[in-house]
Amino acid sequence: MDYISSCDEAVGKALYAEYHRQQRNLELIASENIVSPAVMLAMGTVPTNKYAEGYPEKRYYGGCEEVDVLEDLAIERAKELFGAEHACVQPHSGASANLAVYQAFLEPGDTVMGMNLAHGGHLTHGSPVNISGRLYHFIPYNVNADGVLDYEEIRRLALKHQPKMIVAGASAYPREIRFDLFAEIAKEVGAYLFVDMAHIAGLVAAGLHQNPVLYADVVSTTTHKTLRGPRGGMILCKKEYAKQIDKAIFPGTQGGPLMHVIAAKAVCFGEALKPEFRTYQEQVVKNAKALSSALMEEGFHLVSNGTDNHLMLVDLQNMNITGKELQNRLDNVYITVNKNAVPNDPASPFVTSGIRIGTPAVTTRGLKEEDMKTISHLIKLTVTDFDTKADEIRAAVNEICSRYPIYE
Ligand code: PLP
Repeated sequence: MDYISSCDEAVGKALYAEYHRQQRNLELIASENIVSPAVMLAMGTVPTNKYAEGYPEKRYYGGCEEVDVLEDLAIERAKELFGAEHACVQPHSGASANLAVYQAFLEPGDTVMGMNLAHGGHLTHGSPVNISGRLYHFIPYNVNADGVLDYEEIRRLALKHQPKMIVAGASAYPREIRFDLFAEIAKEVGAYLFVDMAHIAGLVAAGLHQNPVLYADVVSTTTHKTLRGPRGGMILCKKEYAKQIDKAIFPGTQGGPLMHVIAAKAVCFGEALKPEFRTYQEQVVKNAKALSSALMEEGFHLVSNGTDNHLMLVDLQNMNITGKELQNRLDNVYITVNKNAVPNDPASPFVTSGIRIGTPAVTTRGLKEEDMKTISHLIKLTVTDFDTKADEIRAAVNEICSRYPIYE
């Protein structure tokens, strides 16, 4: 960063400020993490200079022999990590990966089922404001009154609408997703099963969540959430779909791959294959369970009354505060979360009645169960005593963050 500052003062200053913010704040956004120095450094290396349209050994440009090695490493490690027959590591993001999956299997106008965004799904699973919802006829499915997926109801909808594809996966769902049950439903109605495991990929890699690769025709993921890699996407599938998936990424929906990011994906997958990664993911789940229990003891309502994974959804309707207001107050005391709609939320998506909280980033920093108890109390104080205790809360956050520094 010093070097960047010496070349470009304004950019250097903003980078330092962001580094300082990440050091100072407790990062509880469920989709974020803190990458290793090796992953970080790989992203700033020379393949950023290289055009490599195509795939290893089948490129449209000369000089690709070394980037072929990098992409092959990423592919082989991804296949080993998830037990997949084929991996495409070129998607620039989770959204790009999903768009390519739809392009590979569907025609515009086809019927698809996906989890309702307002119930924990993702924009790319058929929201009308996303290209998925504009190109395809999405039928949304919901969680039930207990905040959990009702597989009988999903089956009923599938039998009624006869979708060509069923999308499973979520951005704000705290419970294990039964991919085996989704596969049974998809088989019964003759639909493709597409699993977007973006949020839980790290847990899957560590064997702490059912592996969708065993059940689905095609699986997409981001590489930057629980998986703790560079920002990016990936698609895994059976061999029989390999060609159509690769074609849907390039030339279907993307141009040249980001080879420096693919190098960082290879580093990330190498890290995820090590035993320490499983220990890390186990701690992510232990911390999430500790935080959710402590929040409930503080009087918070959690959608589905807890969590099986790395995240929880806090319903604030009994606390007389909106998601938006609590997110702002927490920002003010250096705790970062995002406002999030809860199922059947009476508030608008810009306001919301909930917040989503996740433990991947604080677990990477080294926080443990006892710290989760402290954090739950600080969140409660932010709701009840913000006007009088903001300084006290900031000091407590500062104490925790200085015990667990990042990138020293
Ligand atoms: N799929 C799911 C389930 C997600 O939660 C997200 C991002 O939050 C995405 C896809 C999109 O990923 P990206 O932001 O890399 O496009």
